[in-house]
Amino acid sequence: MEHALWSSGASDKNKSMVEQLRRYGIIRSSKVAEVMEAVDRGLFVPPGGSPYFDSPMPIGYNATISAPHMHAACLELLEKNLQPGMRALDVGSGTGYLTACFALMVGSEGRAVGVEHIPELVDTSIENIKKSGAAPQLNDGALSIHVADGREGWPELAPYDAIHVGAAAPQIPEALVEQLKPGGRMVIPVGTMFQELKVVDKKLDGTVSVRDETSVRYVPLTSKEAQLHAN
Ligand code: SAH
Repeated sequence: MEHALWSSGASDKNKSMVEQLRRYGIIRSSKVAEVMEAVDRGLFVPPGGSPYFDSPMPIGYNATISAPHMHAACLELLEKNLQPGMRALDVGSGTGYLTACFALMVGSEGRAVGVEHIPELVDTSIENIKKSGAAPQLNDGALSIHVADGREGWPELAPYDAIHVGAAAPQIPEALVEQLKPGGRMVIPVGTMFQELKVVDKKLDGTVSVRDETSVRYVPLTSKEAQLHAN
């Protein structure tokens, strides 16, 4: 056992994780670093997991929390669309970690909306967020998480400046493109066996461009039944 005097607290470990992501050049924006420091990942990973280790971790229900470098990369890709007062949608919000980061990016004048189809994960994510740096946003309604099929987005609060999809879709869902604001950006993993993280930009004139950022491996964006019965 480590002596208590030399063991670092959870937030120290979170801080070191953020520093490492900076050193590797995955985090470049100081705002992203600040937000990832304020939301302790340790609160979002179930007991027995290694929250600060750069790997996805199981969260039950055949789902995983994404690796820290993926969360950081997505925050970087969306940074310009997560300015104070903007609206962000997190599809497949899982643990709620990234939704909490979005809420701190857009602040109390903005909106961060999570959509997740497993009710138990939604309940746990809300409990996690209550303990985190994004608790004020949850209390004042700037952050909300809903049980729904994320392939339909969340039309009530559309259009969004930023949409993040945390599960891989066979193709880009049309409803999500529709709910993107002109000038908005969506980051979405697309594919089945082989997946690409795609960056979808809707220009001010409404035209849409899509580019591949990197190869990734996410759990599928699918029906609740298919997810729970996958082995
Ligand atoms: N960003 C989350 C990722 C969780 S894994 C995190 O890091 O914690 C992907 C999540 O997408 C899972 O929680 C899964 O339940 C959810 N999901 C898959 N298909 C979905 C759908 N059609 N609608 C809503 N959520 C979905």
